[in-house]
Amino acid sequence: MNELSERFETHEPGDRQAGEKLRCDACPVMCYIAEGRTGACDRYGNFGGRIVRCDPVRVLDFAVESGAPLVPFGGEAWDGELVNTGRRFVTAIGSGTTYPDYKPAPFIVSQEVEGVDLVTVVTEGIFSYCGVKVKIDTDRHLGPETATVRAQGEAVGHVTTGEYGSQMLSLGGVHHLTGGSKSEGRVTCETLLDLCNKKPVELTIDSGATIVVEAGKAPVIDGQTEHRMRVGCGSAAIGMFATQWRGLVDEVVVVDDHITGVVSEHQAGKVLGWEDTGIRILGRKSTPGRYFKVSEPGLGWGGTSISDPLSILGDWNAKKGARPGLTLLMVSTTGEQFAYYELDDQLRPVEKPFPERLRKSVGLIEDNCEPALCTVLFVGGAGGSLRAGVTENPVNLTRSVHGLKTYVTVGGAPVYVWPGGGITLMVDVTRVPDGAFGYVPTPALVAPIEFTLRKDDYLLLGGHAAEIRSIGDVLARGGEYFNERAEARACADNPWPPLAQLRRAPGGSS
Ligand code: SF4
Repeated sequence: MNELSERFETHEPGDRQAGEKLRCDACPVMCYIAEGRTGACDRYGNFGGRIVRCDPVRVLDFAVESGAPLVPFGGEAWDGELVNTGRRFVTAIGSGTTYPDYKPAPFIVSQEVEGVDLVTVVTEGIFSYCGVKVKIDTDRHLGPETATVRAQGEAVGHVTTGEYGSQMLSLGGVHHLTGGSKSEGRVTCETLLDLCNKKPVELTIDSGATIVVEAGKAPVIDGQTEHRMRVGCGSAAIGMFATQWRGLVDEVVVVDDHITGVVSEHQAGKVLGWEDTGIRILGRKSTPGRYFKVSEPGLGWGGTSISDPLSILGDWNAKKGARPGLTLLMVSTTGEQFAYYELDDQLRPVEKPFPERLRKSVGLIEDNCEPALCTVLFVGGAGGSLRAGVTENPVNLTRSVHGLKTYVTVGGAPVYVWPGGGITLMVDVTRVPDGAFGYVPTPALVAPIEFTLRKDDYLLLGGHAAEIRSIGDVLARGGEYFNERAEARACADNPWPPLAQLRRAPGGSS
């Protein structure tokens, strides 16, 4: 017996009942569940002698303001009348899974919206091949590219290429979920689940930092909360603010791990007639006023490892403009670190009290920095068997999605569908209702997915016509898993499936 079967008495497919226990067939684990208990994923239970999906089906109301808590309205207490005249959308959250999808999806809902007959096919997909992309707004060095990212000591992903003012992590994926040890798979699944459900997760990077990531919140890096996302690289900052500094200071250096900028040499400074200062930067010159590798990456000024910005300066050259009394501003790309110096008689910079005249320009850098956030994108593919729950000919669904005839959402949130083969999608988890993601211990993530299209298009692509039900009937009677329905206000950022896109003639172009 394996670990799961010891705990939940999983069996080979076969009998629906073993003694007092009922078989749940919503995923390959096939738990046999005793009366009053739930299965291995806690999503299904045996209550009253039937397998029940324990969470309500979430129905989004697009007619009211967002932000209110869920209001249960299903089950015995509701008479099935559509008392709310707002536009409703049955999400796949709580809908259940019809594994292995030789069966139609749990709900195939029809409704007419502004004269267009629409069908929404909803199901909770099981994703063994999925992951998250995490964007962390910070200048700080989190770890080398390709370094392993760990949760609870297990490898769950890696550091990938940093883009602009953010560091990127790629977590999950089939190799961590299924290709490593049992513990690696379990922890990867747990990490993805928590991140997708907008919970904080502590991650450690080999030869790097420890970070707490929570979607939509500021990252916490080695115990310090990050506040600002940099305004740009050091060179960009010079370009943006050179005019603010003109006439107030003789030289400005914007310290940055990637591109450190020097105003007197930079094109922006030249255009403004900035004079040479004889400064020398200890780094690799890229183009005038732009330097790479002034330091190792780290948690110091501008994502470098330095705490003393003077350490990136060489000797000042009198023949090229250096002179006693020359003034120098050094500032980081977020404006959080800054210092002011004057050259002494030996042309050595000496720190002086920060002058009031420069405070406004440093404040302007800070003001232009946006709040630092963590962004979590769930990435998964609607695979062959999931598509079979939508249509008898799964490739038709792929073509319909790529042909913009079918609109895909995750818990009502719009997705980005990757070009190329299959239906590989990405969704910002902060736009998905709370608690929408689940798991099964195979291990895999469970994510809601909805396909909305014109009813005539649905019939043309070989949809399960006999299973189409009106939204009123779905709300009144529920589905195979006997769970309640609950209403939630739609996230204000999420549009109703775009009628303009779906309104055109069936099968044709707009
Ligand atoms: S793990 Fe969950 S979905 Fe899978 S069979 Fe068990 S109870 Fe059902």
